[in-house]
Amino acid sequence: MLASLFVNGAPTGVPDDDTESVSLELGGVPSLECRHCGEDLEEYPDGWHGPDSGRECFNTPCPDWFNGRPLHEPQPVALAWCNHAAIRTNQAEDSVTVSISVGDPRGGFCFTVRRMPPGAGPLAGRLLLHVPYPGEPLAHVPLTAHAQGCYLVGGY
Ligand SMILES: [Zn+2]
Repeated sequence: MLASLFVNGAPTGVPDDDTESVSLELGGVPSLECRHCGEDLEEYPDGWHGPDSGRECFNTPCPDWFNGRPLHEPQPVALAWCNHAAIRTNQAEDSVTVSISVGDPRGGFCFTVRRMPPGAGPLAGRLLLHVPYPGEPLAHVPLTAHAQGCYLVGGY
């Protein structure tokens, strides 16, 4: 099998013929940042603190004040919910799996397309798509049906 690897649409270091997976690791991303100054934030009993500025925001137009000083205003950091995303090929099973981890970083939701082997009866040679589903044993994170083909991660 000839494999090529592209990053942002451009070819990059070509994996060898034995390469079976590539992944994008996103760990270590803070979950909240200040919407005004962009500093990573942690919650303390007295409010949101940045590692360099404490509670005070030096780029706040004026949304909130404490003792006459502007405070950080938290917002979620884009993609902070994702630990990693990966693509894995398996020649022995004739399959490709995309996995996305949003919970325990040791696992992820797996979406697999597999061509059925010659001995698979009427399905021989056909492609099957396997997706996570509500009630799946050993689920990465439990799913709740939201709409056809759409699941809420966790419960309502
Ligand atoms: Zn700030």
